Amino acid sequence: MLDKIDVIVVGGGLVGGSLGLGLARHGVRTLVIDRQHPRASQSPTFDGRASAISASGQKLLDAVGLWPHVTGRSQPILDIRVSDGASLLFLHYNHRDLGEGPLGYMVENRHLREGIAAEFEKHNTCLTVVAPATVTGFQQTADGATVILANGRTFTAPLVISAEGRASILREAANIAVTGWNYPQTAIVATIAHQHSHEGIAHERFLTPGPFAILPLAGGHHSSLVWTEAEERAATYLSLPDAEFLAEIDERVGGFLGALRLVGPRFSYPLGLQFASTYVNGRLALIGDTAHAIHPIAGQGLNLGLRDVAALIEIVVEAKGLGLDLAHPAGLGRYERWRRADNLLMAGVTDVLNRLFSNNITPIRIARDLGLGLVNRIPPLKRFFMRHAMGTVGDLPKLMRGEALR
Ligand SMILES: Cc1cc2nc3c(=O)[nH]c(=O)nc-3n(C[C@H](O)[C@H](O)[C@H](O)COP(=O)(O)OP(=O)(O)OC[C@H]3O[C@@H](n4cnc5c(N)ncnc54)[C@H](O)[C@@H]3O)c2cc1C
Repeated sequence: MLDKIDVIVVGGGLVGGSLGLGLARHGVRTLVIDRQHPRASQSPTFDGRASAISASGQKLLDAVGLWPHVTGRSQPILDIRVSDGASLLFLHYNHRDLGEGPLGYMVENRHLREGIAAEFEKHNTCLTVVAPATVTGFQQTADGATVILANGRTFTAPLVISAEGRASILREAANIAVTGWNYPQTAIVATIAHQHSHEGIAHERFLTPGPFAILPLAGGHHSSLVWTEAEERAATYLSLPDAEFLAEIDERVGGFLGALRLVGPRFSYPLGLQFASTYVNGRLALIGDTAHAIHPIAGQGLNLGLRDVAALIEIVVEAKGLGLDLAHPAGLGRYERWRRADNLLMAGVTDVLNRLFSNNITPIRIARDLGLGLVNRIPPLKRFFMRHAMGTVGDLPKLMRGEALR
């Protein structure tokens, strides 16, 4: 297959992996290249995060063959409770208010990665995976785009997609500028076991250094912690002995989960916002965190990437069906227009939310508490926000609406 590749996807992470699998399932000859072996991500120290997957993201994961790998290990989110520090005012989203099933699902990233590795290993005449292999260069002409590996090997195709995450060699090689800034915050991530059941409720508490979230995992007695702290204090908390670390968590949780126990290592992620100035340059398109990396305050980064995946699959499959050049400017231009505004809006919303809630300035605190209280009391407004969290609004690609492409 390597002499007639349709699409090269550089980066086989959660976004690139989903894209590669989805394209191959639709008969597009796809080569996925990643600098890590797919099974390397199975190590318990690789990625301790769990992702809140929206209802529409779940449909896309199903369409690319990943959902069956996680379905028994995902936790439906039945209720979301948002509170502002010590204030009693809180926003309460219950899935019954919409009557459309759960608000989303919590899935551990390692289970998604396990699914990607298992699907990569299955025989599929349209999919080739080259890993571990690092792409170090990129060139394009009117006829095709070529990626160059660190070992000198090259691959050429009509279309190359960069799903390399925040640091992208291809984006740089194509001179695509990036706007953004770092937040003076670090996300501390850990899995905790607890005495009482979480009952499918996701809690997000806005504290002065940043949001503190306890997100329900499958089985009822495990949760994923995403604790946003000021950079310098995060380092101190991360180095505490287990008992003291758990005591800090319990103080913020407020004791409602009963006795707590740490499961596995602690992880930390520096936070920042990045936005590529364009998503397309000739035969190169950007996707996922390479195009837009946002604050995890609303658990939307991967969901946006999955929307990119669904939109690109739809456009590429359509172009292939019509016998067009897969990097035809009309198709890639449509991808950029379709996805850029949506991603930019979410980047802006998460940035504002983080600035608005991560402080203790009295007038701002009063205004935001009034805002939360209002949203909670006005059912249409509340349903509007719930549908946004579920990812069921906007111009959704077919695979996110549960529709087949052909
Ligand atoms: C604390 C935290 C919590 C989060 N929670 C949520 C959540 O609940 N819900 C949600 O939707 N999102 C969440 N996100 C965001 C989400 O994790 C990211 O948006 C998502 O993982 C990005 O995936 P990606 O595949 O685009 O990039 P990456 O995960 O960075 O993958 C990039 C891949 O490309 C490979 N690669 C890179 N460069 C090269 C190269 N030159 N050659 C070959 N291979 C290369 C890498 O090995 C890697 O496999 C969270 C983020 C953080 C930090």
